[in-house]
Amino acid sequence: MKKYDYLIVGAGLFGATFAYLANKQGKKCLVIDKRSHSGGNIYCEEVEGINVHKYGAHIFHTSDKQVWNFVNSIVPFNRYTNCPVAKAPNGKLYNLPFNMNTFYQMWGVMTPEEANAKLHEQRKEAIDRMKAAGVAEPRNLEEQALTLIGKDIYEQLIKGYTEKQWGRKCEELPSFIIRRLPVRMTFDNNYFNDTYQGIPIGGYNKLIDGLLEGIEVKLATDFFINREHWETIADKIVFTGKIDEFYNYRFGKLEYRTVRFETEVLDSPNWQGNAVVNYTSAEVPFTRIIEHKHFESFGNEVYTNPKTVISKEFSTEWEDGMEPFYPVNDDKNQKIYFKYKELAEMEQNIIFGGRLAEYKYYDMAPIVSQVLNMFFTI
Ligand code: UDP
Repeated sequence: MKKYDYLIVGAGLFGATFAYLANKQGKKCLVIDKRSHSGGNIYCEEVEGINVHKYGAHIFHTSDKQVWNFVNSIVPFNRYTNCPVAKAPNGKLYNLPFNMNTFYQMWGVMTPEEANAKLHEQRKEAIDRMKAAGVAEPRNLEEQALTLIGKDIYEQLIKGYTEKQWGRKCEELPSFIIRRLPVRMTFDNNYFNDTYQGIPIGGYNKLIDGLLEGIEVKLATDFFINREHWETIADKIVFTGKIDEFYNYRFGKLEYRTVRFETEVLDSPNWQGNAVVNYTSAEVPFTRIIEHKHFESFGNEVYTNPKTVISKEFSTEWEDGMEPFYPVNDDKNQKIYFKYKELAEMEQNIIFGGRLAEYKYYDMAPIVSQVLNMFFTI
């Protein structure tokens, strides 16, 4: 008899949701995490009474009622709606995602009909070029952006930001990255199309702590330091770390992007007027500035705290010892990942899940959904 039903490696959203649901079914779980806190990259740190998203902004959004009800049963969510603005190389501010406000700011067009005519003109060159080359689907992010939204927006709002974020040319990046962003012919600055959206009231730690309540958790505990031991203590392992590391990098290392943050406390109650301002120029070294208080206080409520906390995000290539954030899902890395995936599929007692173990650019809600669905079949 093993001591635990499940050893869960990683106390991030996948691991914590899994532990919660397994525990509800009467399974005995142990969660270990190499960091000294739980929550993975959704962990927040309180500074000046503000929940600082320590590993980058996280906004929960979903159209799945079951997922929304589930997370709200752990902690109620607020009404935060993400409406980022972008500061472009031409010095102007634009609304995101690409919508009638953006088109008005870019070209002065005022109706959807005028905007459509302009977009048609803007996209034409790239569409003609693809047709001439006999290409049916965009082959990379640049082609996708140019055929979706056209030249001016690509140059002002996409190219510089994307190349900074990914450290690769837009021609070398997969097109799906940009398909995350809606293009809307209405004056609607909501970044997401989903029915439900928000941030846990009191911060993401409340969500994680709620999920892990009553479950044994060992922090500052690295699975790889004593792997032989950990592999013997449970019937099954739920592994949410890097899949290439799990297999000792036998097919080579997968690449990730990471983010370095410069966080400052400022003597201003309202420094940029919005939670997220993207800097889309290649000349500015950071990708965006987050002003954390706007995730949890709305309108003039922000003035109740005379201070604010901002974080500049610098995107860099991941190296050993850093926290991996984004998988680089280009062809080269996907080929390597599929070799690891083949091994993973042959495992009887190991479940791989989450951004790092599945090498996938997951949002939070699909993670919760995936774990909920697993428990219908376990
Ligand atoms: N993007 C862009 N300009 C922006 C914001 C996003 O070109 O101002 C592109 C960029 O390629 C980025 C992708 O859209 O990688 C997805 O952006 P999202 O905001 O969803 O990224 P995340 O919040 O996950 O970092």
